Amino acid sequence: MVKMADKPDGYEGQGFFATSLDKVIGMARANSLWPLPFATSCCGIEFMATMGANYDLARFGSERLSFSPRQADLLMVMGTIAKKMGPVLKQVYDQMAEPKWVLSVGACASSGGIFDTYSVLQGIDRIIPVDVYVPGCPPRPEQIIEGVMRIQELAKNESLRRRHSEEYKKMLESYNLT
Ligand code: SF4
Repeated sequence: MVKMADKPDGYEGQGFFATSLDKVIGMARANSLWPLPFATSCCGIEFMATMGANYDLARFGSERLSFSPRQADLLMVMGTIAKKMGPVLKQVYDQMAEPKWVLSVGACASSGGIFDTYSVLQGIDRIIPVDVYVPGCPPRPEQIIEGVMRIQELAKNESLRRRHSEEYKKMLESYNLT
């Protein structure tokens, strides 16, 4: 069954509906997130289940996966990230155009998980900013969907000016990103 996205808050009367540009763009962004799946190990398998017919991420307008950072706005990191892989992940993030969001899926991406070793990055937020963390080893598809829905809320409510704010620029600088 097709479910229409809720309309944003605004004023309506006979023959008209008025709202702000921020809200319309937020609604469009939230319902057309294009994920880039950066899957390195077992959590990636849960993501495959999330994309399958049973859980069907397409219901959220996110069926169009992108393997090019230039055509994605949601970086989903799923799996163990070795320190050697860190610069690659950072470059992928850097190549994505604004606005962009990051979902860290599972214990490994979020904190290194059980791999408390010299070779594993102890959380991707050491190299790129993360918007939402999904706990679990592995998280179930329902949890991944919950994470995507949290990202949708962020996208829906984000001010168009946020990405030009001093605070945002400082946050990127703290990661040596521009
Ligand atoms: S969190 Fe668990 S399931 Fe996910 S990549 Fe790490 S070890 Fe695998």
